[in-house]
Amino acid sequence: MVNVRLLIVIIFCAAKVRETRQLAICCNRFFERQPIVCRRSGASTKNQKPESCKPKPVLIPLFYPTFATAHMQAIQLLIDQLNEPRKVVITTHQKPDPDAMGASLGLYHFLTQLGHEVQVISPTNWAAFLNWMPACNLVSDYEKFKEKCDLLINEADWIFCLDFNTLSRTKRMITSLQQSSAVKILIDHHREPETEAFVYGISDTSKSSTCEMVYDFIKSSGRMDLLNQEIMQCLYAGVMGDTGSFRFASATATVHEMVAELKHRGLQHTIIHENIYDNFLEGRFRFIGHVLLHRMEIDYELNTALIWVSKNDLLKYEMKTGDTEGLVNYPLGIQGIKLAALVIDRDEKRKWSFRSKGDFDCNTFARTHFNGGGHYNAAGGESDDSLEVNIQQFKTVIQQYKNQLETF
Ligand code: 5GP
Ligand code: MN
Repeated sequence: MVNVRLLIVIIFCAAKVRETRQLAICCNRFFERQPIVCRRSGASTKNQKPESCKPKPVLIPLFYPTFATAHMQAIQLLIDQLNEPRKVVITTHQKPDPDAMGASLGLYHFLTQLGHEVQVISPTNWAAFLNWMPACNLVSDYEKFKEKCDLLINEADWIFCLDFNTLSRTKRMITSLQQSSAVKILIDHHREPETEAFVYGISDTSKSSTCEMVYDFIKSSGRMDLLNQEIMQCLYAGVMGDTGSFRFASATATVHEMVAELKHRGLQHTIIHENIYDNFLEGRFRFIGHVLLHRMEIDYELNTALIWVSKNDLLKYEMKTGDTEGLVNYPLGIQGIKLAALVIDRDEKRKWSFRSKGDFDCNTFARTHFNGGGHYNAAGGESDDSLEVNIQQFKTVIQQYKNQLETF
């Protein structure tokens, strides 16, 4: 009888293991004793570094939530290679937000302590409210220092790609990334990752933020002793940013446990809120007043609000990168509003932000109509068409979602 029970438990466990493709791959490899094949991303074969792409097989604990796919090997496989110093580039999406910059710099402070030669490259400039982050002054802006950055990318052994999952989100840096023969590693929490572009990685949409995932990575490396003030400040800022200061559903018990751990280790958190949210110039508030008064349209039948911002508005109030951050959230504070959309006439593109409450899927909406993506309740997109065409397009396509939007 005991043996039959044991057999049932073993069959159940085996079925669970097969549910996760990556674990199945890892187990198959382990049982078949095959070496793990290093897949290189990008088309270029120049500057191949055969040694740096030979991950040693390690046994992943059963039921570890790796969420890797057939294209991408579990990030856990990287952990036993962390002690061998490499040339590392860390990059993130254009116009990095607190999560993108926090994850990049948090990982920077971790890897430098392990003896790696690390450079953080941002595809574009960033908001001034991120400049307080430790080592932010060492981050290179790709658009300003293209030649230097191309060289770093070309010479890198590893390139960590944080808080984005399609190379196109790195704007002009995409060609350089595609051509680099470095091993590319993804850590991200957005939907529908371009897994074929990465050798190792973890993509987990259940995570609040990439900063939480970097924390998990450090924890699973067994080197929590390296979690210093610099890392904690950067990671806290990102989790705070992406959870709307711990308000969204993504602020899980695990997130609060992480924050508790940081607090036990001496993190001062109020200064981080002030650095990010209380650090604007007067013009930004005048701008918000102007926009809410003159540029916000509400459709109560569709429970939708649209805000549009022209180039003139940006110029008149001397708006800088980051000054429009959070603007899309204002209409969600209005009773009954389920979807808030913001379109801004940026230099060469029209940039969209979408936020929703409840069961409206912003990611699919942004992907379907505005060449974008993101999360279920927060996504973005872009368009080459004029501001007027974009506004009209939004008003037209939103009619298709009447049924979803009119019920709260
Ligand atoms: P935001 O509206 O704050 O710019 O972006 C909201 C979310 O959508 C973020 O997680 C961001 O990474 C994602 N996102 C913003 N713009 C785009 C885009 O053009 N393409 C994709 N795939 N995701 C975007
Ligand atoms: Mn994020």
